[in-house]
Order: sequence, then C-alpha cells, then structure tokens
Amino acid sequence: MAHPRPLLIRNARLLTMVDGVDETRGDVLVADGVIRAIGGRIDHADADIIDAADGILMPGFVDTHRHVWQTQLRSVAGDWSLFDYFVRMRMIYSAFYDAEDVWLGNHIGALEALNAGVTTMVDHCHIINSPDHADAALQGLIDAGGRGVFCYGLFGNPRGHDPLVMDTDPGWLVADARRLATSRAFSDQDRMLFGLAPAEAEAMPMADLLREVRLARDLGAHSISLHVAMGAYDQRHRVVQHLADAGQLGPDLLFVHGATLTAAEQAAMAEAGAGLSVTPETEMQMGMGHPLAFTARAAGVRTGLGIDIVSNYAGCMFRQMQMMLQSARARTNAAIEARGEAPRRITPTAREVLRLATLGGAEALHLEDRIGSIEAGKRADLILVRTDTLSMCPTIDAVAAIVLNAAAADVDMVMVDGRMIKRHGALVDVAWPDLAARLQASSTRITTAAGAVDPRPIEAMAAGVFANLI
Ligand SMILES: [Zn+2]
Repeated sequence: MAHPRPLLIRNARLLTMVDGVDETRGDVLVADGVIRAIGGRIDHADADIIDAADGILMPGFVDTHRHVWQTQLRSVAGDWSLFDYFVRMRMIYSAFYDAEDVWLGNHIGALEALNAGVTTMVDHCHIINSPDHADAALQGLIDAGGRGVFCYGLFGNPRGHDPLVMDTDPGWLVADARRLATSRAFSDQDRMLFGLAPAEAEAMPMADLLREVRLARDLGAHSISLHVAMGAYDQRHRVVQHLADAGQLGPDLLFVHGATLTAAEQAAMAEAGAGLSVTPETEMQMGMGHPLAFTARAAGVRTGLGIDIVSNYAGCMFRQMQMMLQSARARTNAAIEARGEAPRRITPTAREVLRLATLGGAEALHLEDRIGSIEAGKRADLILVRTDTLSMCPTIDAVAAIVLNAAAADVDMVMVDGRMIKRHGALVDVAWPDLAARLQASSTRITTAAGAVDPRPIEAMAAGVFANLI
C-alpha cells in the first residue's frame, strides 16, 4: 500500500534523469504512489515532510537482467568460464533446489536489489523444476515489494535431485507457464508483469525458438528474455537476424548480452523497438566480447544494464555502471593511443552510464511511461542517496558521485509506488537475522549436495552442447 498521506521530499539535490536537465535542487511531491509535482519550493498542508537536504533524490535503478535464484550461491563463480557456469550452476546446483530454496533466493535477492536502490528488476527465472518452484520464485519477488518482470524460464532442468537426469519433456513447463500467466498473481496489480524466457535461444533449433516466442505472445508476455550474441560461443548463430528474417522482431523481445550483435542486427532491433540488456561483468569475465551498451544506444537500440548472476556479482547497479563506463573508456582511449595520440577528452560520460541504469532500462522494457525518471505522472519509484557519509562527503558533482563513489550503504531511502521499502538506511519490516539463518541453511544444504557430485560425466554431456555452440 502506498504511503497513506502525501509525501513532500524537501530540498533534495535532484537528478531527474530527464534528458537535457542537469542537477537541480528542489522538492518532490508524492501522493497515491505517483509523482505529483517537482519544483524549487512546493507547499502542501497535509503532506508528511522528508528533509532531503543531505541527499540526492533520483529514480530507482532498473536492472534488466538477473537470475535472482542464485542468491544463496554467492561467490561460487569467481573464476568460472561460461562452460563452468553451465555445468556447475545450470546442471548441478540447480538440481538440488527445492521450492523453499527458490523462495529464499528470490526473496532475499530482491531485498538485496531494493536495499541498493534497484526498484525494477527483470528476473530471468530458469530454476523452475516444478510448478511449486515457479510459485515460490514469483512469491519471493512479490513479498519483497519491488517492481519487475517475472520471466518464466522454459529450460528443462535436471529432475529429482540428479544432475544426470535431464528433463527431456518440458511440455509440462509450457502448461505451467500458461497456468501462471493467467493466475491472480498478475491480474490484480501492475507492479509485477509476466514474461517468458525461452529455453536457451542459442542452443535450440530456430523452429523451437519461434514456437516459444509465439507461445509468449499468446500468453501476453510483457517481455521475452533471450541470451544472444555471446562472442565465440555462438558467433555463427545470429539469432536476432533469424528472428528479423522471420518477421518476429518486436518490442516485447529483450535480448541479453549481445556483445557480438552485428550492425544490421542492431538496426533491426532499433527499428522493431526490441530491448537490449547489457551485463558488463559477465561479458568481460566470460569472454563474450566487449559490453555493447554505448554502441547499441548510439545505434538507436533501447538499451539498459543488467546484473545477471548473483552467484558471482554484487546485486547493485553501482558496480555495473563502473564496469560499463570504464571498460568503454579503456576501449576508446586504446583506439586513440593506437594512433600515437593521448586522449584529450574522456568519453563516454558518467551521465551517459547513469542514463543506461535508469531511463535506458525503462526504455528497454517499454516502461518509460511509468518509471525511469522523476516526472509528474510517473510512478513514485524513488531513491535518496546520502551525501554526508564517509564515501560520499563531499559530493561536488552528483552524477559522478552516484556512478563512481556510491554504494548500497549510502542509499538512505527507497520507495516503490510510493511505498517505503527502505528508510534511514534500513529495510522496513524485514527480519534479517531470521532470513539470514534460513539462507545460510539453504546454502549449506545445496552446496554440500552439489559438492558430492562428480562433475566429469556432466562435463562430457555439456561438451556436446557447447560443441554445437562453438
Ligand atoms: Zn543471464
């Protein structure tokens, strides 16, 4: 429920993220979950006041790609390749998740995101080992209170706690996706939207992919999330081009990674309004190519950033912005240095990456009419970042400070739809010690079971899949 009375956030440093509008200072009025007014000084007799003089008020971050279920496997993937990830995460660890584990991973992962100011998140959910798993994953997100798209994954995971028993008949997944899409969970609110994640776009016949894209549209999916164009892993597949040739590109498609998309594919995506989620840390670690965000945006593609696997990366947008920005600058500078020159101006800018992480993500999801910037009429998904902390004081340039200095600990307030999720630096109504104990127990059980598995036969099985990819 939204805050019962109007809220007047007073005297904040404002990063509205409206294109062409620089940092200002002023007030924002919120009522009934909606931003009602923005101005230098607003007076409202009935409003509760939040003094934001020591903070930066900005739209919440939009994370366009995350596998939230992996929360209790943090730090297992520090040195993994994509092959390691496929064998160990997708085949071994996933086999030992029960529905309760999925709820814990998704719920606490969603809380982690909110705590760091991520107010909208796309969950590409490929841990659906049973209908109960699907319900638990969705409920975990809903219980945390954030906004998002729940993309039901059609990948057939191993069955019955046995990594060697692949689910070769995922027909039940199709029926279950239909059950969930039409359930009450999506009918009585617009904060959580239904999406679909086809089994694995780069490892399935095109006819199967087209069938799953048609299924998604039949189910009214808001987004269709697809991993594509991952460098040497799949450079001959050209999934986006095939979809374009089949006349199936559309605004509901959300392509992920995409580091090796061709110029023609980017042009086709821009034309069709398809979105792109760039996940800088994965692309760099796993050899998928250079993160494409600035290039794709320049080509007119609706582009946002994503965090991807929380079994490896921090669940915040701050670090992904830094990764994206500095990796792109390193490339730009290297090209200048290759000519024997020194860079005089540094590009891209901090402002450009902050746009990707907010309004850009909203555009990639076709939600820019509701979220992504502070404008009257948009939903009140707002965050306040303190400027008087050890890491933020003094804040001379608000954009640079958010991109390069801030961390989750500096996020003082988070609201979604006007509802207070975090206040005074702490999540509201979250019993963390109890949740932490349950998450630790879940993690111990799963990692112990997975640790007893001999990976060699699974690696041999996966080598066949990757031989197809390479
Ligand atoms: Zn992914």
